[in-house]
Amino acid sequence: MRNAPTILHLDMDAFYASAEQASKPSLRGKAVVVGGLGPRGVVATASYEARALGVHSAMPMAQARRLAPNAAYLVPRFSLYRAVSEQVMTLLRELSPLVEPLSLDEAFVDLAASGTAEDAESARRTGVRLRADIRTATGLTGSVGLAASKMLAKIASERAKPDGLVLIEPGTERALLGPLPVRTLPGVGPATGDHLRRAGITTVEELAEAGEDELVRLLGKAHGQALYAMALARDERPVVAEREAKSVSVEDTYDVDIHDRPRIGLEVRRLADRCVRRLREAGLSGRTIVLKVRRYDFSTLTRSETLRGPTDDPAVVREAAERLLESVDTTGGVRLLGVGVSGLADYTQEDLFAQASSRAEPVPEEAVAAPVVVAREPVPPHWRAGQDVRHAEHGHGWVQGSGVGRVTVRFETPQSPPGRIRTFLVTDPALEPAEPLPLVATAPAAPSPAPGPPAAP
Ligand SMILES: [Mg+2]
Repeated sequence: MRNAPTILHLDMDAFYASAEQASKPSLRGKAVVVGGLGPRGVVATASYEARALGVHSAMPMAQARRLAPNAAYLVPRFSLYRAVSEQVMTLLRELSPLVEPLSLDEAFVDLAASGTAEDAESARRTGVRLRADIRTATGLTGSVGLAASKMLAKIASERAKPDGLVLIEPGTERALLGPLPVRTLPGVGPATGDHLRRAGITTVEELAEAGEDELVRLLGKAHGQALYAMALARDERPVVAEREAKSVSVEDTYDVDIHDRPRIGLEVRRLADRCVRRLREAGLSGRTIVLKVRRYDFSTLTRSETLRGPTDDPAVVREAAERLLESVDTTGGVRLLGVGVSGLADYTQEDLFAQASSRAEPVPEEAVAAPVVVAREPVPPHWRAGQDVRHAEHGHGWVQGSGVGRVTVRFETPQSPPGRIRTFLVTDPALEPAEPLPLVATAPAAPSPAPGPPAAP
């Protein structure tokens, strides 16, 4: 493991909810819950004000409504989140070519890869500047963790929340990890956590004391060994930049999120077999095995492993995909799984890729963004709580609620004071759906300090 805290983990604070509060001045300082408003909706993100009332991610929406009846309940606006995410990822890529996004608002950055930081002091400076740049570019806050490994950098950013920075000095890792619950470690979900608790293991220290043999006995070889290493703060996983690579891939979207870890493993093995069949049918082989996981909150992550040579052996692909799955936290459930093989040998077949991508089902945003209120008469599907609208006379606003033929709109923008609400007929011709407005009025083209005033044209 490296001896300087040069792995940075960035996690935006309550990302979706913060973006909504930045967009909608009347919601600042208020409980805001973003997620699926339909019958099987779950909370994607709750603002800190809603968290104080006990609402958290992955909670069924009905339960959230009982805990926080006065919170604002909004559908996600992915186009806005993606735009902000792009700004954040651009800032990260200025720090290093090695950026590994985990979701829209979370990524690892290897600061040593670019020489941006080589010791604790330069790493801290980089983190402080990054947080300021993110705030300037997006108007939102992100927390930064710095450590000598990915696992510890992520733990550090968690401890930094909200709106903070924590650096774990090399050499202090084990003392810090010891008293923490086992669930802190990557790969310990609720099931593994329960299993360990029944064996009398609740803290990381107890995990380390149990020893590798005991953990292998309890959890199986791969998981037991991996967890033992983590308990000793040994984590050699490199930061892996995502590359655009063509691949043969298959994926499945599930009607109901899968929570059961063995079932997830079974699905991954099935997908690996299907992927290899397609590969063989095309007479291809490939070197890089890719696992894709979309979680309950639509955060999507991919993991990949590159073999020494190309393969089309189902056992090899299955094992690689299972190994990759071990590093993925599936707490909260999984809605899509995919397995692909890339780095294809010698030649490529464009139509094969076309086929492969047509299999890739688009994210069913409707599944989370169901109509807000069950109305007696049909409601145009775009009047969903939180959505942007424009009124011919009153300007830009957002839908606060709709039902029984009426839609209530609050007219405000990211830069305006809290706005007034007005109610219209859902069929009002003056009202139409709109695109989200940028959170920062004049986003600077280059967020780092400008070298001087721009030259006059
Ligand atoms: Mg976050």
